[in-house]
Formats: sequence, C-alpha cells, structure tokens
Amino acid sequence: MKKKSDSKSTIICPCCRKETTPAGAKRVLGRTFPTWGDVRQKVEPELLLSARYQWACDACLQNGKAIMAEPDQQQYVDHPPFLAYFDLQKKCETCGQDYIFSGKEQQYWYETLKFWVQSKPIACAECRRKKREEKMPKASDKPKPDDV
Ligand SMILES: [Zn+2]
Ligand SMILES: [Zn+2]
Repeated sequence: MKKKSDSKSTIICPCCRKETTPAGAKRVLGRTFPTWGDVRQKVEPELLLSARYQWACDACLQNGKAIMAEPDQQQYVDHPPFLAYFDLQKKCETCGQDYIFSGKEQQYWYETLKFWVQSKPIACAECRRKKREEKMPKASDKPKPDDV
C-alpha cells in the first residue's frame, strides 16, 4: 500500500511553468555548488521550491529549452547561483520594447564575462549597442565647437 502523497513535493519548473516532481528534475537535483569557503550546498528538492533559484526540469534541459549552468564558473555572494539558463522576456528601459535575454546570452554574461549573478541588462541589445557606440568616439568625427 503506497499511500504516501507526493503532491507536497510538486514543484513548478521556472522554464516551462509545468508541474513536475523531484523525479522530473534529476539533472539539477543532487548537484552541488560552492557557498562559503569549502562548503558546498547540495541541490535539494526544497531548494527548487524557492523562487530565488533559476533551474529547469529534465524535459527542458533535454529539449534545449534550457541549458545547464555551472555555478562554479559564476560570481555570486548574497544571491543564489544559476542552476540553469533559459530565455527570459524583459522590457527595455530605454525604448520600452519587450526583448529576450536568451539563455545562451546569460551563460556568456555570468560564466564567460563573469558578471555578478544579480546583474541584469536594463536595455535591449539594440539600445545597448547604440549606447556603446555613443560612448566610443568615432575616428571619423571631427571635434565640434561647444558653442553651437
Ligand atoms: Zn521545464
Ligand atoms: Zn531598447
């Protein structure tokens, strides 16, 4: 007789928003990530209930909707590391358009460029590009008089 209800252990995948159970999140569960000093925290089912963690279910990792993150490659102190990356919809603070901060882009930000995990883009790729160009003086630009 199996009367143990597992409804309590139902977890919602932050990527596909579908209900799953710990058995459907085997890829992220049991992994460990560094905390203070040499202490490593194990990914437990309870941790996946916390909205603070960005993870993905096995199905999402399998079908490419999400990519596995490597906390060991990330810079974090007071914020939890990413356990997985997937496309996030954001609103650009410059032009007001919705844009996608892709999983691949996040991986690049947090694991290659080593940005702090709490850093988020505030503008879409297009606006960020324009801003970068404004900041960089073009070689072709002639100095303009200030008093025009
Ligand atoms: Zn999922
Ligand atoms: Zn924009």
